[in-house]
Amino acid sequence: MAKFDTPDLKALAEIPVVVAGTMAHSHPYVAAPEHQASLGFPGELIDDWQRVAIDKLGELVGKYRSLQVFMDSCVKCGACTDKCHYYLGTSDPKNMPVARQDLLRKVYRRYFTFAGKYFPWLVGAEDLTREVLDDWYSYFHQCSQCRRCSVFCPFGIDTAEVSMAAREIMDAVGLGQKYSNEIIAKVFKIGNNLGLPGPALENTLEGLEEDVEEETGVQVRFPLDQQGAEVLLVTPSADFFAEPHVDGLIGYAKVLHQAGISWTLSSHASEAANFGLFIGSYENMRNVALRIREAALDLGVKRIVFGECGHAWRVAYSFLNTLAGPFDFLDPRYPIPQHIIEVTHDLMERGALTLDKSANDERRVTFHDSCNVARASRMGSKPGGQFVLPREVIKASCNHFYDMAAETIGESTFCCGGGGGLLTDDLLELRVKGALPRMQAFDSVVTQHGVTHLAAICAICKSQFAKVLPYYGFEMDQIISVHQLVGDAIVLGAKQ
Ligand code: SF4
Ligand code: SF4
Repeated sequence: MAKFDTPDLKALAEIPVVVAGTMAHSHPYVAAPEHQASLGFPGELIDDWQRVAIDKLGELVGKYRSLQVFMDSCVKCGACTDKCHYYLGTSDPKNMPVARQDLLRKVYRRYFTFAGKYFPWLVGAEDLTREVLDDWYSYFHQCSQCRRCSVFCPFGIDTAEVSMAAREIMDAVGLGQKYSNEIIAKVFKIGNNLGLPGPALENTLEGLEEDVEEETGVQVRFPLDQQGAEVLLVTPSADFFAEPHVDGLIGYAKVLHQAGISWTLSSHASEAANFGLFIGSYENMRNVALRIREAALDLGVKRIVFGECGHAWRVAYSFLNTLAGPFDFLDPRYPIPQHIIEVTHDLMERGALTLDKSANDERRVTFHDSCNVARASRMGSKPGGQFVLPREVIKASCNHFYDMAAETIGESTFCCGGGGGLLTDDLLELRVKGALPRMQAFDSVVTQHGVTHLAAICAICKSQFAKVLPYYGFEMDQIISVHQLVGDAIVLGAKQ
C-alpha cells in the first residue's frame, strides 16, 4: 500500500476543516513527446507557452459561450464548496469547485475583462505565471469532471467544463497528461485503450466461449468482426479480461444469445471509452468516435449498443451523432445508440428473458450511479430513466437490493474517485481520498442491511473500486458488474 493515510470512515459524513496546500504535491506524470505528437500537440512545454495559452483561452471562451458564462457568472455564494468528493476527502481548499474554477477565472479576468486589465487587484485577476500553470496542472488533475458541483450551483456552473478547457490549454502548450494521452494514442494505433491487438482479442473471446460452455453446457458465442450481424456491441476493453468487468461481458453475451439477437464486436472499434472527452479535445474525441462509425458501416450492422462504461455512454448519448453521424444507415426503430441496460430492460419487459433471482441469493446488493450516466445522459424514454432502468434490471436479477443514502445517489451521486482521466497509480492518493464519500455511504448500507456487493455500470468505477475498497477495509471483489448479476440469474434455453 502507498504511503499516505486513508481517511477514517465515520458514522456521519463530515465537512473537513480546511488544510491549505495539502494536495499541492499531487500531479500526474507528464505525457511523453511521442504521445503528444500522436494527438497533434507539441511534444513538450513550448518557449512561448504563456502567449499561446492566453490565445487558446481566448479562443475557447469565444467558441464555447458556456465557458464564458461560467467565467463571468460566479457570485461566490459558496453552495458548491462542500460538494466535491476531492475536497471532502483531502481537505485542500483548492479542491472546492469554486476555488478550482478560480484558477482559470483569475487568468481569464486578467486578460479578457476591462476590470482585470486595469485594476487586477480589485477583481482577483492574476498574470499567467509558471506558478499558476503548475497549479493548473495539479488541481485540474484533481477534478474527475463528475459535475456534482454543478447540480448545487444556482447558476449551473459546470466545473467539469472548466477543467476540460484548462486541460485543452495545457495540451496546446505541450503540457499533457501521460495517462490520458498515451491511451488515446493507443486507440489510434491499435484500436483500444489496452493496446490489445486483433488476434489477442480473438483468442480471448474464444477462451470466454469455452469457459461459458464448460460452466453452463450452452454454446454462447462471442463473435468478432461478424459481417451482417444485427448489433455492433462497443464495450470498454477492460470488459475483455479485467475483473469484475469480464463477468459483465459474459452477461451481455448471455442476454443477446437468449434473445436470439445476432451481434458482433469489432477489432477496429474494440473500445467504447473515449478519453478525448477528458482532455477536452473535440478533434481527438471525434477521431476516436469515427472508428465506431467506420466499424458499423464495414460490418453492415443495424444497431449500435454500448456496454457498461459511464463516460463512453455520455459521449455516445450526447455527442455521437454530432461527432460521427449521421447514422441514417441504422434501424430507426431502436435508439441510436442504445445502452446494454436498455436492451436488457426492454427484453425483460417483453418477457424474452427468464431470470432466476435465487441464483444471486448470497448477494445483498447496492447500486453506485456513475457520474457520467447520472448527470450527463439518460436511458429509456422517460426523464430519470438512467436511475430507474439499472435498478429495475438489478431487482429483476436478485432478491436483496438496498439503495445507499438518498443524498449520495441519483443526480447527487458521488464520483468513485477515479473518473475523468485520473485512474492512474500516479494519482493513487487522490483516488483513495476522493473515494471517501462513496465508501462512507457504502459502509452505512453494509452496517444497516448487510450489503455485500456494490454494483456498477462503468468500467472506470469498477477498476477504481477494485483498487480502493481494500484501503477502507472491504474486499476488492465486492464490486460487481450489473450484467454479472443478470448473467448469473439468466436461465439459458428457457422460454417464457
Ligand atoms: S466536477 Fe466533480 S470533481 Fe470536479 S470540482 Fe465538481 S464535484 Fe469536484
Ligand atoms: S455554487 Fe456556483 S455561484 Fe456559488 S460559489 Fe459555487 S460556482 Fe460560484
